[in-house]
Amino acid sequence: MDGRIEHGFRARFRALAGWTGGEDEADRLVSEATAAAAREGTSPAHALARVWLRELTAAKRAWIAGPRGSVGEPPWALFDEANPPRFLCDPSLGGLARWLRAAGYEARLAPGVPGHRLPDEALRRGLVLLTSEAEVLDRRIVADGSQLVVWVPSALTMAAQLHLAAVELGLTLREARCMACGGRLVPTAKEAVRPRIPPRTATWKDEYFVCAECDHLFWRGTHWERIAATLRRTVAA
Ligand SMILES: [Zn+2]
Repeated sequence: MDGRIEHGFRARFRALAGWTGGEDEADRLVSEATAAAAREGTSPAHALARVWLRELTAAKRAWIAGPRGSVGEPPWALFDEANPPRFLCDPSLGGLARWLRAAGYEARLAPGVPGHRLPDEALRRGLVLLTSEAEVLDRRIVADGSQLVVWVPSALTMAAQLHLAAVELGLTLREARCMACGGRLVPTAKEAVRPRIPPRTATWKDEYFVCAECDHLFWRGTHWERIAATLRRTVAA
């Protein structure tokens, strides 16, 4: 197995024990996933992700049922409808950033910021760091919980990465944002943007949106319907 992926999941299992006040069961859980992958002939990364999601979901249920005890706030308790997480994504996750924006979340890239500086940059800007680099989980500000990180192994599919982030932070579907830049989409009268609408689209679509930041024109066509179906399956599942 890719050592970095196992290393990353071990760090996540340890973090989960810290959030819930439970025991560190990283060794047992990694062994369980490794055995399942060998038995089923599946990828170790997906087997680990499955065990991780199971443990995370169980911990959330137990946490919601209380009592809370003296442990720190777990990530899923830090955000709600009025205070959604905003993301800083490492450069390899540009595609995932676009999906998060479609789900209604601000997700930025930090071009020019070297990888090892991303945790500090996210902390400085009050953003959740979304990364595929397992090494980031060893950084002091991440391990001690000062900087919240969602780690999505690159061996997972985009849909699996999105689902993992959604479960970890308790994300629900919000009003879609501009997939290109994350700006707010403003409903706009058809007549105001008619010159920019492809003639065939104009014959059957009446609802249009313009990004408040990059001015991109959007409508909910068949492409959007496919995106929305994936979001319902992965984020709202
Ligand atoms: Zn935009």
